Amino acid sequence: MKTYRIATIPGDGIGKEVVPAGQRVLEAIAARSDAFQFEFENFDWGGDFYRQHGVMMPADGLDAIRNKDAILFGSAGDPHIPDHVTLWGLRLKICQGFDQYANVRPTRILPGIDAPLKRCGPKDLDWVIVRENSEGEYSGVGGRAHQGHPIEVATDVSMMTRAGVERILRFAFRLAQSRPRKLLTVITKSNAQRHAMVMWDEIALEVSKEFPDVKWDKELVDAATARMVNRPATLDTIVATNLHADILSDLAAALAGSLGIAPTANLDPERRYPSMFEPIHGSAFDIMGKGLANPVGTFWSVVMMLEHLGEMAAAQQLMSAIERITADPSLHTGDLGGTATTVQVTDAVCAILAAKPAAEFKAA
Ligand code: NAD
Ligand code: MN
Repeated sequence: MKTYRIATIPGDGIGKEVVPAGQRVLEAIAARSDAFQFEFENFDWGGDFYRQHGVMMPADGLDAIRNKDAILFGSAGDPHIPDHVTLWGLRLKICQGFDQYANVRPTRILPGIDAPLKRCGPKDLDWVIVRENSEGEYSGVGGRAHQGHPIEVATDVSMMTRAGVERILRFAFRLAQSRPRKLLTVITKSNAQRHAMVMWDEIALEVSKEFPDVKWDKELVDAATARMVNRPATLDTIVATNLHADILSDLAAALAGSLGIAPTANLDPERRYPSMFEPIHGSAFDIMGKGLANPVGTFWSVVMMLEHLGEMAAAQQLMSAIERITADPSLHTGDLGGTATTVQVTDAVCAILAAKPAAEFKAA
């Protein structure tokens, strides 16, 4: 029996509610299988840890999780600590420390979900956004001088390396190639940003030659937002910079019904380090501690984790269990207009996984 070692890092806010829910679902999946099991280790890093120790995670924290097979993450963000401290002190430390350069964000309208794009059917919105996750606008390069004086200055320098752009574009072309439509849209802002974004466009053209069977086009990021709303079916795989894709994927999540549903994978495609899986939402201060968080974004992230581990059948089984519970409005949480709690939704998914015999899943 194979054992996967999983680090769970709930972090802050509703991360503390959805990560335990995700662990329960992983346990339910493992209970169905004779082939694999999970060994969890939990890390209490985040805002509370910061209040005790002055840091979001220990200095040697990466070494504690370096040998895990995957990381399940909740959220970094505490109402009493500045957001740039929590983000850089935990989530970005892991993403950048483990060179998880490909951030993958699938978006679909799941069964039973009332999405704002009324004109389009579920089949018209089936995207995967690939976000450059290691450099660009989030390189952390910059500084401040003359602080507090009228001549104060502040810079955030967006660093784009040829190696970094090549590897994310190659990843995106390969992902597009693996999907039925073999369609990629490369999003930049190469009219206004005439250095790095022009280099992106040039490298996209070069890399495209390695993938003659992938159809691709370019779009400026502002026009891309309108295209997502007006012509969603013209998009399939999308690749963009760290900042642009961050924004576009929140839009994508909202268009598909709720931020509470959307999953993401921070991948090291070369598998030198563990990859990290998390819902795209944050700590949700307005609902934290109340048991109201939608755990579906975490469950879908668990599906991505199972795929990454190569457990394709288990991933499929969990995804179909998720789609069965979204199809039932009595299992919708508040963000979807319902009254279900985190625990009720989690119980329902676990019950489906416990009830359905493996043979039936394979047939489905
Ligand atoms: P947020 O995602 O926490 O919340 C935005 C809105 O969506 C809120 O109204 C919230 O209640 C709702 N929402 C989000 N997830 C939900 C869920 N699972 N179920 C039901 N409703 C849900 O974004 P924010 O308010 O901009 O950020 C709050 C904090 O989280 C900040 O500190 C921010 O820095 C942090 N944050 C962290 C991450 C991360 O660690 N990956 C991502 C985004 C924001
Ligand atoms: Mn974001």
